[in-house]
Amino acid sequence: MTCRAAHSPSPHERLTYTTYDDKVATRDTPPADPEARRVLLAAPRGYCAGVDRAVAAVDQALERWGPPIYVRGQIVHNRHVVADLAARGAVFVEDLDEVPPGERVVFSAHGVSPSVRQAAQTRELTVIDATCPLVTKVHKEAVRFAADGCTILLIGHEGHEEVVGTAGEAPDQITVIDSPDAAATVQVTDPNKVVWLSQTTLSVDEAAKTVAALRARFPALADPPSDDICYATQNRQAAVKLIAQEADLVIVVGSANSSNSMRLVEVAHESGTPQARRIDNATEINPTWLNGVTTIGLSSGASVPEHLVTDVLNRLATLGFPRVEEVVTTKETLAFAPPRVK
Ligand code: SF4
Repeated sequence: MTCRAAHSPSPHERLTYTTYDDKVATRDTPPADPEARRVLLAAPRGYCAGVDRAVAAVDQALERWGPPIYVRGQIVHNRHVVADLAARGAVFVEDLDEVPPGERVVFSAHGVSPSVRQAAQTRELTVIDATCPLVTKVHKEAVRFAADGCTILLIGHEGHEEVVGTAGEAPDQITVIDSPDAAATVQVTDPNKVVWLSQTTLSVDEAAKTVAALRARFPALADPPSDDICYATQNRQAAVKLIAQEADLVIVVGSANSSNSMRLVEVAHESGTPQARRIDNATEINPTWLNGVTTIGLSSGASVPEHLVTDVLNRLATLGFPRVEEVVTTKETLAFAPPRVK
């Protein structure tokens, strides 16, 4: 697998962009060396183009038609985003059976299988498809390789919505592989007609290990035409890798069911930080984590709105970390056009 880095990080790109001294209130823990204490804020972080588009789709549907707007699954894997939209009239359902016939339904950024599209048609629902175009790309690859008669080994987490949707494109030809161990035992019909694809939000390094294990067993293994792990996942992991090398503690803002947020925590651990923690919001910071800490690394998953990060910075300022340096490893400019209403 060629996991292309969009840009080579360099220490010279660091810049101090803001401080939060004015927000210092009380300290829960006295700082050992207040001058040295700092927060390294990873960039890029937070919303990716696919999440931005999906959240905007629900937002705009609510504005245009008013509630209720049904959403299949969590629109993105962040409980704050879901709670905000629910408070405005979005109704989150697990199954289309819960949507009254003829209503409007939004498909989440993670995508759906063809059987769900069929069910929507049967119920005569108006679909607003917020599937991320980068997930759709993987679906199209699956359809094409399946039509060629290949066995598709889909590297991903069994049961994750995105994996369920992709696997549904060719259930008889797709096997989900979640680790190098699984790669060591998987059986295929024809070892000369095997291709691997992946979930978009995996750890780049872990996926590479799984691909290596597959290739050791199936030398003719074909690669996807381009990286399935998306640009946002790769960029956030590269930024976290860099800050984790200097941080005594890395905090990742993101929900527990967010694959890319969980991978950021793992990447931070593997990059050498002594502590890596995931939190949903600032209130979950335990001041004891900061004992003996001089440098905190901070990032957020691709489904996390920036105001949650700002809250964390404000809380860290009250805990003796008012100095913030943003570490920029690449700039993202990608944006997707809004979904069409079908
Ligand atoms: S994490 Fe990647 S694949 Fe998922 S919504 Fe964002 S850009 Fe799309």
